[in-house]
Amino acid sequence: MTTFTEAYIYSDQPTTCPLCGTRSQVILNLSHTKDKTEVHKCLQSNCGYEFVMQHDQDFEPVRLLNKT
Ligand SMILES: [Zn+2]
Repeated sequence: MTTFTEAYIYSDQPTTCPLCGTRSQVILNLSHTKDKTEVHKCLQSNCGYEFVMQHDQDFEPVRLLNKT
């Protein structure tokens, strides 16, 4: 197993690479396990960054930018 040093919390935004902002692809889906994580890989061939997205059921998106 690859060791990942960073985890990112899901939001309601499409998952993108934290380095280059390109949309990412799920390469390992562990969302059905107790860890509730997905391993994503950047679709940008020059980047290819792999990172972990983590489901957190207690996490509620905060919409600080939505000023109506
Ligand atoms: Zn990337």
